[in-house]
Amino acid sequence: MAQCTEPSTSIGANGELKKPRKVAVITGITGQDGSYLAEFLLEKGYEVHGILRRSSSFNTGRIEHLYQNPQTHTEGIASKEHHTYYMKLHYGDLTDSTCLVKIINQVKPTEIYNLGAQSHVKISFELAEYTANVDGVGTLRLLDAIKTCGLTNSVKFYQASTSELYGKVQEIPQKETTPFYPRSPYGAAKLYAYWIVVNFREAYNLFAVNGILFNHESPRRGANFVTRKISRSVAKIHLGQLESFSLGNLDSKRDWGHAKDYVEAMWLMLQQEEPEDLVIATGEVHSVREFVEKSFKHVGKTILFLFLPLFPQEYLQGDSTKALTKLGWKAKITFQELVKEMVDADIHLMKNNPNA
Ligand code: NDP
Repeated sequence: MAQCTEPSTSIGANGELKKPRKVAVITGITGQDGSYLAEFLLEKGYEVHGILRRSSSFNTGRIEHLYQNPQTHTEGIASKEHHTYYMKLHYGDLTDSTCLVKIINQVKPTEIYNLGAQSHVKISFELAEYTANVDGVGTLRLLDAIKTCGLTNSVKFYQASTSELYGKVQEIPQKETTPFYPRSPYGAAKLYAYWIVVNFREAYNLFAVNGILFNHESPRRGANFVTRKISRSVAKIHLGQLESFSLGNLDSKRDWGHAKDYVEAMWLMLQQEEPEDLVIATGEVHSVREFVEKSFKHVGKTILFLFLPLFPQEYLQGDSTKALTKLGWKAKITFQELVKEMVDADIHLMKNNPNA
């Protein structure tokens, strides 16, 4: 087990006041949100440390642009537009508590963002135990590592909670006081994580918060999520690389925002005086059908659906009034802009690499 020592202070050897340290650890840095958050924090002058899973193929595609030379990513130098930043990746995994203690003890972060997860709801039915281990117990491992390293009074902790906690909808729209009713192994694992975060806040006075984020997408969204499946397929059809594609329920509705807006909310939540759990959402809902129509319209095609049965559906729609009041946060990127950005990015990607 790694040795733990006191965090460094902000007073220099000669008594001079040093700038407050801004050092972040991000689990899930190679994912959609982690990559946008790393960019955001580097721009704000943070030293960024990311936890990288060992993989048999490269899994740093979303963050490679942040390095001068991808081969030297563990050396800690990152560069963008002629500025040099400090970013370092550490091999680790949320299923391995020893590595979490080692990394936290070595880095002594001032902020930790726990974004690492098996994040696919449908796949969580196939990988239920693994999802519980990473998304649920993994959060406990990280919190315990903070305690073991004696950092409960100096670090701020962000937990990637989710609208899937509301699975079986108890009221529309959903807000902080809406009762939870998860309906998947993913939602159930995230429910444990939600409450263990609350528990550490109350039991150890740790500044720990749950951001209850509704769906957010981007060109970096995993290819097996519905929005990305649409933008990729429409791009391929536009380029003549594909003739058709199929989707599940077109009438399924979602509150979709842009990941770039949402990582700002994560950061804002850690800049508050008091830790508080908040819903982050656009407050607007759109159907899968609308996403498809808008995507085709963007490439100049009109789409006719063969049959149009309309099923009344329960749906997730967030009310983030509290986030607006407390953080001054509101989603800036519209649904239309999101669709356009995703389709354009996939056209660009498929043009250069039809097999992507
Ligand atoms: P992604 O699936 O894009 O990214 C997940 C990240 O977690 C990846 O970096 C992945 O690594 C990493 N990871 C997976 N398993 C482990 C593990 N065992 N140990 C360490 N890291 C691991 O998800 P998003 O970026 O979209 O989401 C970020 C977080 O926010 C997740 O916790 C998700 O559940 C939550 N969330 C997301 C929402 C959304 O709409 N996007 C909505 C609400 C919550 P690798 O790249 O190697 O696979």
